[in-house]
Amino acid sequence: QRAIVLNSRPVGAPTPDNFRLRETPLPEPADGELLLRTLYLSLDPYMRGRMSEAKSYAEPMAIGDVMVGGTVSRVLVSRHPDFKEGDLVLGFSGWRDHALSDGTGLSKLDRNMQAPSLALGVLGMPGFTAYMGLLDIGKPEAGETVVVAAASGAVGSVVGQIAKLKGCRSVGIAGGAEKCRYVVEELGFDACIDHRGADFDAELAAACPDGIDVYFENVGGAVFDAVLPLLNTSARVPVCGLIANYNATELPAGPDRLGLLMGNILSKRMRVQGFIIFDDYGDRYGEFIEQMGQWVQAGKIKFREDIADGLDQAPRAFIGMFNGSNFGKLVVRVASE
Ligand code: NDP
Repeated sequence: QRAIVLNSRPVGAPTPDNFRLRETPLPEPADGELLLRTLYLSLDPYMRGRMSEAKSYAEPMAIGDVMVGGTVSRVLVSRHPDFKEGDLVLGFSGWRDHALSDGTGLSKLDRNMQAPSLALGVLGMPGFTAYMGLLDIGKPEAGETVVVAAASGAVGSVVGQIAKLKGCRSVGIAGGAEKCRYVVEELGFDACIDHRGADFDAELAAACPDGIDVYFENVGGAVFDAVLPLLNTSARVPVCGLIANYNATELPAGPDRLGLLMGNILSKRMRVQGFIIFDDYGDRYGEFIEQMGQWVQAGKIKFREDIADGLDQAPRAFIGMFNGSNFGKLVVRVASE
């Protein structure tokens, strides 16, 4: 089996030499075990945190560990009473083409599912993140303005579309004209602003004439600086991710803006709340899948995947996520059937 392991810890942006391909003989499942073949591997920003030594909400990986990650796999051999050969399962095999499992943490998908990779995107963890973060923390009301960055990505694209379904004005922020065009014309947001543009702050303000009621935070950094003055009294800020900071090796250059932030939270009586999707909302996955399944089926929520072909492409594709090279939910097709 082929696996990609953590070879060294990144300092700043991850580089190809932080990863190493390891080949070992295919393992034999013992009684109570399964042999899985990975079809799709999800690449997600949180993996950057797991490559670092600093303890976060999850334990860091050790050097030599197989890179972690969500997967859709086919059961090749089953010596487990609950699974049959040919079953399609959602699991957490990581960056490898085959894996042994004792069934822990696996959930069965429809074995004839037409597009199994969606279980890693709009119908999986990122879609769930958008759904809970926006609806449970953001609590958008019809007529309000909802802003989300990384708006063409796995989470952001879903946030803005749900906001539209709830009758809000939906404003995206994305990197580049092509992503912004897609977000408005294909996803149906009301506006999308390029955060790399020279007039970003002014354009964002112009796109939010009534201020911002919900800011779904995916990014942090300069994007948040532009958002802060536009937030309205009683604004809600679900803090989902801060990808602009994930490769940072030091605090940003001054001035210190903590006082400005806290002053805004106080005077505008804002609610700023972080969440870790499965820790906080694991028990609501069923509700999400039912609702999102209907929306996707009905064409009310659209999605876009960015599929890299082959396990060896995973490091390159992952590294690109931190400069916006991906356009849509990033997935690796590890094997085709
Ligand atoms: P995306 O598919 O949106 O890919 C990441 C995107 O982030 C890039 O394409 C790029 O888009 C944008 N980006 C990267 N660096 C910067 C930067 N410095 N400034 C501005 N934008 C940047 O990823 P996901 O949808 O999977 O994740 C989005 C966020 O949600 C991440 O912060 C992630 O950590 C978080 N998350 C949190 C979860 C939780 O439980 N709290 C669960 C899942 C995700 P562009 O080119 O448009 O700038």
